[in-house]
Amino acid sequence: MGLNERSLHELIGLLERGEASLEEIIHDLYRAIEEKDNSIRAYLELADREELLAQARANASKPLRGLPIAIKDNISTVGFRTTCGSRFLRDFEPIYDATVVKRLKAAGATILGKTNLDEFAMGSSTENSAFFPTRNPHDLERVPGGSSGGSAAAVAAHEALAALGSDTGGSIRQPAALCGVVGLKPTYGLVSRYGLVAFASSLDQIGPLTKDVRDAALLLSIIAGRDPLDSTSIDGDNVDYTRELGEGIRGFRIGLPREYLREGLSEEALARVEEWKAIFKDLGAELREISLPHTEYAIPTYYLIASAEASANLARFDGVRYTSRASEESLEELYSASRDRGFGPEVKRRIMLGTYALAAGYYEQWYGKAQRVRRLIKEDFERAFQEVELVLTPTSPTPAFKLGERVADPLQMYLSDVYTVPASLAGLPAISVPGGEVGGLPFGLQLIAPHLQEGRLLRAAYAFERAFGPRPARPRAPGGRRSQRRARTGP
Ligand code: GLN
Repeated sequence: MGLNERSLHELIGLLERGEASLEEIIHDLYRAIEEKDNSIRAYLELADREELLAQARANASKPLRGLPIAIKDNISTVGFRTTCGSRFLRDFEPIYDATVVKRLKAAGATILGKTNLDEFAMGSSTENSAFFPTRNPHDLERVPGGSSGGSAAAVAAHEALAALGSDTGGSIRQPAALCGVVGLKPTYGLVSRYGLVAFASSLDQIGPLTKDVRDAALLLSIIAGRDPLDSTSIDGDNVDYTRELGEGIRGFRIGLPREYLREGLSEEALARVEEWKAIFKDLGAELREISLPHTEYAIPTYYLIASAEASANLARFDGVRYTSRASEESLEELYSASRDRGFGPEVKRRIMLGTYALAAGYYEQWYGKAQRVRRLIKEDFERAFQEVELVLTPTSPTPAFKLGERVADPLQMYLSDVYTVPASLAGLPAISVPGGEVGGLPFGLQLIAPHLQEGRLLRAAYAFERAFGPRPARPRAPGGRRSQRRARTGP
């Protein structure tokens, strides 16, 4: 087992005891990247190896010991470009670090590289990247999910020890599920968004993608906390989320929303859900059926609100500031030509949809109404949490789908977010943990907790992971048809 296959907390231990060196770890990481990234294509940009090693050594006495972390390419990182997977920002070099990057560096992390994503984080498959799609390490013909597909694929393929992603409607949890890693979306506001290129400001959150639950807790403890540069950020400093991890979940009531299990799930997926229930029961939890009656409105509500906010946020990309400028005669022409060339089709679709929803005369009918439904969805959860400590669902209705399969049908693509957008609309913390396989591919389990109950969420995820075994799906033993098709590069 290469050192690149270890989790952060294991490596910290090995480094502390002198049983591994930063040189060996970085060597193993770059070897994996050289071997696999030509086919997986998780990275848009990579740190220079010698520079990284020098920085790592300089940080060896800090808590993260110089260990490298990969960062989704919509998070500002000095020394790298921040492209957002868009031609518009192809050459954009930010002049400051996002608060999360600053916090990671202060804790002794180094930055390994920038990972691929759907353009401006709009998508569920990483196929909307303007540069190239990323592939799923478990099957190169399949998508890694999105929009943080590069981060999830890098961690799953052991091309990164851990990564940061962003989640607006599921972009951390869904790719984590499809790649068989852990992905955590914190409570809205717990992590500063300063330096995250805004997509939908009332929903965006940054969070970790990791090999196990303890690493997610470790990284959250570092990045969470109030930041004067993000007025939506809330107190959360100096909480050590790794401390309560082992306390178990005896007596917890866990709710399964009946609306989630109704349709769209295969027999095999339903069998996984039954296994999860049995494990939680063994751990001393009580399973209950609950109702989240407004679930069916979550997708239209989300796509309205997210697109409306995106259309406002992306107005800053006009060809005057930032990088992609078309030279044209008038200012109008400059705007229009720059946007025409700079943005891809999905981004244009969202801008148009959002502009329409915000237009005078339609505002109340669309955006106003979506906001009211959002409140109903939030209240569904508030009611549920009077009865249960946590909500349990699959993260995504299906495992990884084939590249190209949903590109022509945006609605089909949007539907892969059915289980993740409700928690986003409600601002709640949620985590995806590997929950076995469906069709030989990773299948993720999602836990959702009340506002700011990350401690509880992580504790339950940790208990599950220990009972179930940290076993992201592996490509099966050679022989089967499937294993020949599939990359043999998975974890
Ligand atoms: N797939 C969803 C979308 O396309 C979520 C994206 C995200 O969370 N950034 O909007």
